[in-house]
Amino acid sequence: MTVPAIPVLDGHNDALLRLYRAEREGGDTFLDGGGAGHLDLPRARAGGLAGGFFAVFVPPGVAVDDDVRVGEPDLDVTITDAGYEVPLAPPIDATYARRATLAMVARLFRLEERSGGRLRVVRTVDELTAAMGGGVLAAILHLEGAEAIDPDLDALEVLYRAGLRSLGAVWSRPNVFGHGVPFRYPASPDTGPGLTTAGRDLVRACNRLGIVLDLSHLNERGFWDVAALSTAPLVATHSAAHAICPSTRNLTDRQLHAIRVSDGLVGMNFEVSALRPDGYDEPDTPLAVLVRQVDYLVARLGIERVGFGSDFDGATMPRAIGDAAGLPRLVGALRAHGYDDGALRQLAHENWLRVLRKTWRD
Ligand code: ZN
Repeated sequence: MTVPAIPVLDGHNDALLRLYRAEREGGDTFLDGGGAGHLDLPRARAGGLAGGFFAVFVPPGVAVDDDVRVGEPDLDVTITDAGYEVPLAPPIDATYARRATLAMVARLFRLEERSGGRLRVVRTVDELTAAMGGGVLAAILHLEGAEAIDPDLDALEVLYRAGLRSLGAVWSRPNVFGHGVPFRYPASPDTGPGLTTAGRDLVRACNRLGIVLDLSHLNERGFWDVAALSTAPLVATHSAAHAICPSTRNLTDRQLHAIRVSDGLVGMNFEVSALRPDGYDEPDTPLAVLVRQVDYLVARLGIERVGFGSDFDGATMPRAIGDAAGLPRLVGALRAHGYDDGALRQLAHENWLRVLRKTWRD
């Protein structure tokens, strides 16, 4: 007898960028599967992935005439005695960012249309729970870095009406709203200045519209600026505990405490270099490392404020999970470690649903 998979609502994937690139090369495999990467519809169903935050991440590139030329996220990694350092990525051009963003958002809507009811872009908690309960993959539209949004926030209003329900003001590069956190290990997330005036306006506007403000790629001062201003639960969609893995992308105990006080949530990133105490980018990372991170996050945040934020299609996954079809192996490892069905449902989707209910307007 097979035990039905516990439905997972996942805080972060980069499938749209992979699909966008694939489409430009003529391929499209999301609905039928058999493609590259970590996530497509058949593998989501196999692993119990019922819904997720679909990120629009704009890699470096340029606008050329009527087209955009999309580059690779070229991380200039320097190995140091104790770990690694990557300089803060350069800013990207706003015109290019807007075009690439619209292309990826449009791609998601076309995918929804072609899915014949198998994938739905959800805008309310009712739509989200109906999709998850009905075997329809629920997609939450998220911007990972808000370069496509002008400082007057006109594009925010339009994208919100189109379905945008979550955004990170910055990826790990500066823009008009703030300064991202560079990738460094071991290092403090306190790497530079906080939000700009436009960044503060963005926080207020997201609160007004009911858009999740993702803290995952902000540096520490930016984090505290959002914490001081925002009226919504504090959310990091794909991060982990700095006390275990001291990467700049991870959250210190003080930050975790602030998230707890706000009744927010941390979606645990599956990216191996964000989880391991040694910070290595090593796929042969045992599930015990993920279980230890969950234990620590639960101890700091409470079981109600921890979820998953896989980073499928955007990071090196532990081989023990592999791709979306491997989610039950993580759930199984947590169950074997002592988390009961109630706790597993909280981690897998109920906590995310609570935070979205408290953040979204309807
Ligand atoms: Zn990310």
